[in-house]
Amino acid sequence: MTARIIDGKAFAAGLRARVKDAVSALKSRHGLAVGLTVVLVGEDAASKIYVKNKGIAAREAGLVSNEIRLPGSTSEAELLGIVDGLNRDPNVHGILVQFPVPPHIRQQAVLDLLSPEKDVDGLTTRSAGRLLSGYQGLVSCTPQGCLMLIKDQRPQLEGLNAVVIGRSQLVGKPMGILLLQQNCTVTFAHSKTKDLPALAATADILVAAVGRPEMVRGSWIKPGAIVIDVGMNRLTLANGQSKLLGDVAYSEAVERAGAITPVPGGVGPMTIACLLRNTVLAASVQHALSPPTEL
Ligand code: NAP
Repeated sequence: MTARIIDGKAFAAGLRARVKDAVSALKSRHGLAVGLTVVLVGEDAASKIYVKNKGIAAREAGLVSNEIRLPGSTSEAELLGIVDGLNRDPNVHGILVQFPVPPHIRQQAVLDLLSPEKDVDGLTTRSAGRLLSGYQGLVSCTPQGCLMLIKDQRPQLEGLNAVVIGRSQLVGKPMGILLLQQNCTVTFAHSKTKDLPALAATADILVAAVGRPEMVRGSWIKPGAIVIDVGMNRLTLANGQSKLLGDVAYSEAVERAGAITPVPGGVGPMTIACLLRNTVLAASVQHALSPPTEL
């Protein structure tokens, strides 16, 4: 068996087009200009690229995109003051503080202040609590994107066994809760899990969010399973070039899975698309409008 390749790039492009339509409809019907502000502190090279790409994607979708770039010497109090101002600004519907922040700033202090209504990364404790409690709220972008890809393969997930490898706040935990909400039987695996290959082999849906290149071998995969590879591991090759590898040994897994996300081109493009989606959902809620149905 050779798996269907889940084309996250194409799915994300479709979602971004739908976001664009929704943004345009909010403007024409309600005079609402949806605004996203991204805050970057310091000079981290990878963060700079992420922020730039988010700005480009936001503008392409018709959002009012604002980037606040602050020097690495910015104090925690200064950053909190800026976040407080954005919380109060009615033209800003989504706020994203790019992490990591410099070590003298407590990430949790930033998240504790950030308004959950504008928390488009879904990272605040209140957003996590809403997800866990089943209340409406903004959900972390990457797991939300994974769920969309899974449901595109198989709309009805009830009763399926799902194994999520990884339990981070950003990916693993919200992924498992989202699958639980779909009535999957969910198992979280992590670095202390015993006999992970045997556990993974029970999964109808296997999500790998670990950060270890090609850790999940093809032999671990239940034939026909949906395999979602969140891993983004950049390796430097002997010739000095770099290569992006997932957490799943793709060439092996593709022979057993029913459907699988490649790296790159699988989960990665969904993250920014879901950030844009979250910003539109946030704007709708803040203006007491029904969320656009096409999203
Ligand atoms: P993280 O915070 O480092 O969490 C990694 C998780 O993997 C932890 O729960 C850890 O277990 C578990 N783990 C580590 N070694 C393991 C092992 N040998 N066996 C089983 N579990 C193990 O990472 P993350 O932020 O969730 O990210 C995971 C991966 O996804 C990374 O490659 C990251 O770059 C990628 N990512 C991609 C996107 C995207 O847009 N595509 C977005 C976010 C992250 P413990 O809890 O026991 O330590």
